[in-house]
Amino acid sequence: MIKVCKFGGTSMSDGINFLRVKNILGVDPARRYVVVSAPGKRFSGDSKVTDLLYETYEEVKEGGHVGKSFAKVAERFRGIVREAGVSIDIEALLFETAQAIEEDGSVDFAASRGEFLAGRIMAAFLDIPFIDARDVVKFNEGGRLDPRTYELCRERLHGMRRAVVAGFYGEDAEGHVKTFSRGGSDITGAIVARAVGADLYENWTDVSGFLACDPNIVTSPAGIPRLSYKELRELSYMGANVLHSEAIFPVREAGIPIHIKNTFRPEDEGTVILPDKNFIPLPRPVTGIAGKKNFTVLYLEKSLMNTEVGFTYRVLEVLQRHYISFEHIPSGIDTMSFVIDTDQLPDLEVVEREISEAVEPDRIGVIPGIALIAVVGHGMSRNVGISARLFTAIARTGVNVRMIDQGSSELNIIVGVENVHYERTVRAVYEEFFGEN
Ligand code: ASP
Repeated sequence: MIKVCKFGGTSMSDGINFLRVKNILGVDPARRYVVVSAPGKRFSGDSKVTDLLYETYEEVKEGGHVGKSFAKVAERFRGIVREAGVSIDIEALLFETAQAIEEDGSVDFAASRGEFLAGRIMAAFLDIPFIDARDVVKFNEGGRLDPRTYELCRERLHGMRRAVVAGFYGEDAEGHVKTFSRGGSDITGAIVARAVGADLYENWTDVSGFLACDPNIVTSPAGIPRLSYKELRELSYMGANVLHSEAIFPVREAGIPIHIKNTFRPEDEGTVILPDKNFIPLPRPVTGIAGKKNFTVLYLEKSLMNTEVGFTYRVLEVLQRHYISFEHIPSGIDTMSFVIDTDQLPDLEVVEREISEAVEPDRIGVIPGIALIAVVGHGMSRNVGISARLFTAIARTGVNVRMIDQGSSELNIIVGVENVHYERTVRAVYEEFFGEN
C-alpha cells in the first residue's frame, strides 16, 4: 500500500504544524511520499510565504538585491526550524537561496523557493531524502506538463522508501524553473501519486473536505463525504476551491482516489474523490452547489440563424483572435449567447464590433455583471423534477434567472443571475435541497 500525502500552506505554516505533519505520517507506514506547499498564513492578516516571494522578485528587479520581503521569508523559516527543532544549517540555506534568487532573476524561480525551502526543512525534520521538483517535473515547449515527468519521477523515487518532494514547480524546456498556477502543489501531489502508482492520494488541508456550499454564504453547510471526479471537476471549476481544479487529471486516468483530510482535525472523515466508473452516488439528488460572479453575456439575435451554416464558427473566430475562451453557449432557434468571464473582455467594444461585422446579427447586446451558479450531482440525472424544484426555489426568492445551461451529462445545471442576487440565490437553492423537511 502506497499513499502520497500533500500538505497545504496552512499545514506547513509553523513549527508546531510541522510536528502535526510528522505525527500524521507516523501513524500510517503507507504514507511514504510527502509533497509540500510553502508555509501559508498562521492567522488572518498574516502573509503567505509565496506572496512574500513574489514581492522579493519585485525588490530584486528594482534594486538588484533581496530586501525586506525576503527578510520576512527568512524569519518564517528560522521560526519553523527553531520551533520544530530541525537540525539543518538554516542560515547557509537562506544565504544560498537569496543569492540564487538574485542570480536567476525570474519571477517563477523566486516564487518556487517557498516550496523548495519547506521541502528541504521537512526532509531534514523527517530524516528522509528531499527531491527537487526541478529534476522530475518537466514542462514542454508549450508550457504543458511533459509526459516524461511520470517516468522521471518514478525512476527517481524507485527504491526510496520515503521522500519529500517540493510542490508547485518544475523545469521548462530551456531548463528554467517554472511554476504551476497558484495552489499548484495539489497538481504536484497528483503527479507523484500517479508516478509511483499510489493506492491513495491524500490531500491534507485546513478544512474537513468539500462542503455542499460556500460557508461564507450558508452557515455550517453539509459536508460531502464522497464525490466523483466529474462532480469534483464541476465544483472546483466553479469556485469550490479546496483543491486545484487541474489536480485531478494525473490521478484520474490512473483511477487513484483522492482523500481530502484536515491536518487540524485528522479524525474527521473528509471527502473521498473516486473514479467515475462504479461510483455510487450519494443518496441525495444534489451533491453540491458552487458559483462565481462577474461574467458577461454577449447575446445575438438573427432571424433564421438556425439555417445559417457557420454562424457560430464565425463568432468563435473573433473570440479566438482575441484569445477569449467562453464558459457556455446557451442557444435558441434565432438566438445565441456567449457567457464569458468579464476579466477576459477588456476590449469588449472591439469584440462586439468585430462580431457584428462577422455575422451581421439583427441585434447584439451585452449583459454585464452575471453570476453563475452550478448545481452539481449525479443524483440529478436519475430523479424527475429536480429542475422544477430548483427554479421554483429561485422564483420564490424573487430572483430572475438570466440564463440556464445544462451540461450534456445531466450532472449539472448552470443558472445565471445578476451579481447582486448571487448569495440570495445560492441560499435559496441550498435551502431547497438541503434544508430540513
Ligand atoms: N505556494 C503556492 C501558492 O501559494 C502553491 C501552493 O501552495 O500550492 O499558491
